[in-house]
Amino acid sequence: MEFRDLGRQYNRLHTTIDRKIAEVLSSAHFISGEAVTELEQALAAYAGVRHCISCGNGTDAISIALMAYGVGSGDAVFVPDFTFFSSGECPAAAGATPVFVDVERDTYNMDVRSLEKAIERVKAEGKLKPRAVIAVDLFGLPADYDSIRPVCDRHGLLLLEDGAQGFGGRIGERKCCSFGDISTTSFFPAKPLGCYGDGGAIFTDDDEIAGLCRSIAVHGKNEDDKYDNVRIGMNSRLDTLQAAILTAKLEAFQEYELEAVNRVAGRYTELLDGTGGLVLPVVADGFYSSWAQYTVQLPVGTDRDAVQRYMGAKGIPTMVYYRRPMHRQGAFAGTKSAAADCPVTKELCGRVLCLPIHPYLEEGEMEEVARRLKEVLEGMDV
Ligand SMILES: *Cc1c(COP(=O)(O)O)cnc(C)c1O
Repeated sequence: MEFRDLGRQYNRLHTTIDRKIAEVLSSAHFISGEAVTELEQALAAYAGVRHCISCGNGTDAISIALMAYGVGSGDAVFVPDFTFFSSGECPAAAGATPVFVDVERDTYNMDVRSLEKAIERVKAEGKLKPRAVIAVDLFGLPADYDSIRPVCDRHGLLLLEDGAQGFGGRIGERKCCSFGDISTTSFFPAKPLGCYGDGGAIFTDDDEIAGLCRSIAVHGKNEDDKYDNVRIGMNSRLDTLQAAILTAKLEAFQEYELEAVNRVAGRYTELLDGTGGLVLPVVADGFYSSWAQYTVQLPVGTDRDAVQRYMGAKGIPTMVYYRRPMHRQGAFAGTKSAAADCPVTKELCGRVLCLPIHPYLEEGEMEEVARRLKEVLEGMDV
């Protein structure tokens, strides 16, 4: 069994993907071009925003967004303590100070009360200027924007949605990558919508910011002359091949993959419900997840390594996202942000376990995962 079976996806989609790749090869046009424009339009339409700017990866997407708003030295950027490194790395790389905020125990997403406390603390200290919030749609579930947005507005903060794991998720009819003043995603192969290498995108309704992002992604080029460099930028483009692959995959994603992965998650929840002490992922009313991960919390005191070894020996791969709070990453150790007090994140880091999930997982495999997990937990007697 694969944790995320991209081989099965390719088997299903290979006729279209191979044809799209062949078209790019015979056009001999490998950077930008029509396939990229076509993809950007399809992504913007899907997310329901005016502009999509593709770029090299999801990390660059965050960095470009921060650069477009001039976030940098002296600025405090509020980031969940429980996320992938990029969410905190990008503001730090921009010269700003990430301030880590605790998450909710049931959704794994930013806790708005912890956010408000952190903003008040930064204001009271008076050293940094509260500037932006990076809200992450962790494991595919949109963050609670109905509570986060008013806090940002009240304090005049930029809201950046890190939708690297959230593409396809939604709240009501509103889709992920449309909740931020600016939003970003990643097309890393294992993400909900993945390409065959690195890729990313930025989403915004703001015409001016969109233009700035396009410029920054290509060496700060002037709008119509790429050899007239009007600002410092970077080199971050989506390959034409990746755009062609994504266009093929986006169709399958919309037509059935997103529904299929939701069925898998629902089935896991049915199969695992009632297992003593095991906490299953929660999707609140009105929310829809794209299930980048299916993450459970093992009963308190469980030897997680032993569970992983047992499952592994039965041929079931599991992963731990994330083992370490952001503020305890070596890169942030000794910085002011390292002092963050995030008890929920700390507990989650010790308890979470991610099960294999993807749209092509079969009923027999889900049953096997659930059976083995229950079996090992019962045998452990914690
Ligand atoms: C994967 C990920 C990123 C970075 O995306 P890359 O394309 O790998 O650079 C950023 N934020 C989160 C939450 C992610 O999961």
